[in-house]
Amino acid sequence: MKVGFVSLGCSKNLIDTEMAIGLFKNNNFEIVHDVKKAEIIIINTCGFIESAKQEAIDTILEMAQYKQNEACKYLVVMGCLVQRYDKELKKAIPEVDLFITIDEYNKFWDKISQLLIKENKISNKYNKLCYMDRVISTGDKIAYLKIAEGCSNRCTYCAIPYIRGPYISRPIEDILKEAEELSKKGIKEIIVIAQDTTKYGEDLYGEAKLSELLNKLCKIDGFEWIRFLYAYPENITNELIQTVKNNDKICNYFDIPIQHISDKVLKRMNRNITGSKIEALIKNIKAEIPDAILRTSLIVGFPGETNEDFLELYDFVKKGYFNKLGVFIYSKEDGTPAAKLKEQIHHNTKKKRYNLIMNIAKEVSKKNLKSYTGKKYKILIENITFDKKFYVGRSYMDIPETDGVVIIKNSKDNLIGEFIDCTITETKNYDLIGKLQQ
Ligand code: SF4
Repeated sequence: MKVGFVSLGCSKNLIDTEMAIGLFKNNNFEIVHDVKKAEIIIINTCGFIESAKQEAIDTILEMAQYKQNEACKYLVVMGCLVQRYDKELKKAIPEVDLFITIDEYNKFWDKISQLLIKENKISNKYNKLCYMDRVISTGDKIAYLKIAEGCSNRCTYCAIPYIRGPYISRPIEDILKEAEELSKKGIKEIIVIAQDTTKYGEDLYGEAKLSELLNKLCKIDGFEWIRFLYAYPENITNELIQTVKNNDKICNYFDIPIQHISDKVLKRMNRNITGSKIEALIKNIKAEIPDAILRTSLIVGFPGETNEDFLELYDFVKKGYFNKLGVFIYSKEDGTPAAKLKEQIHHNTKKKRYNLIMNIAKEVSKKNLKSYTGKKYKILIENITFDKKFYVGRSYMDIPETDGVVIIKNSKDNLIGEFIDCTITETKNYDLIGKLQQ
């Protein structure tokens, strides 16, 4: 049978989809990229914030159409939205043949086999979602590496602890075994992820083990770039900063979601850090690693955020510490402590604050990028434009799908998947233009 997948949400969710693809493939199903041709469509949903929930529902309803006029016989929905709203979804969207919650992932294949009971004998040779069998969907040079599931930080605005449960680290041997396998498959860039990578090991080994893990990943032959994302400021230690500094393979790239800078707002968010400690951390990283790239994400319009709090954030962004910045409008999420707070901010005010931060962030990015003109960088070439005139790649300063790219005039064939040296000749708002080093 032909199976098609739609994966929504974050890279952690994507790994769950990749494991599901691996399971179907190992059981001799044909994986198709065009879901219109699929007899079974699997949608892995996100349920983190309002906009993500809406996207998931729109996608389900769109795929449900395919049951009328395309090849689709079975529509299966899994992931965070199902974990949160299983009962409501079953009532609201009867076109879906099977909903699988995250709690049911340990019996994922039993549920699929049950659904397909009327079809020809379904192989049960493989019946577990397994990291080692995942099918990498991010090309043949880069892969995400999930080191833990869930989160125990309990930021007051966040629904993830209620969806994914408490923080559970994977045993370090399992992670290294999977990384070895990825390296053998030719993966050159490994991106370490979890809800909070800095907490890795605390639950399992009684102490943070991210530095140790990164050092061990550096010893695996074949990787050119190793990154870790979602590093929460509270737990970024000098040891971790030195680990990045002393390992050439580890990109000088810090993804540090701070969410806000006002002490009053940080406290209401249950973030165990102050604005001055965040600033001190950033200065320390820049002092130790001058070419470090800093990414962050911010929330505007958190309940009780006054004009003064917002201006404090605005002025902080203006200082230009962050090279890359994502901004979210506060989303009131059922069941979270912040949703119960009285001082909810009006949507128009939230939107105005969002636009103000985005505008200043754009200015800061433009200014920061200018400093790269004339400099030489190693670029991973990932794509070529339709007219074959330009290659598209990334430097250590850019994470896939989220940051900018480097555009390079095509003056040499077959560079896709290669690391090449390039000199930056021009800069845009978020992207760089470069020329190949002859
Ligand atoms: S660290 Fe905070 S924002 Fe992130 S997943 Fe955990 S609770 Fe949510």
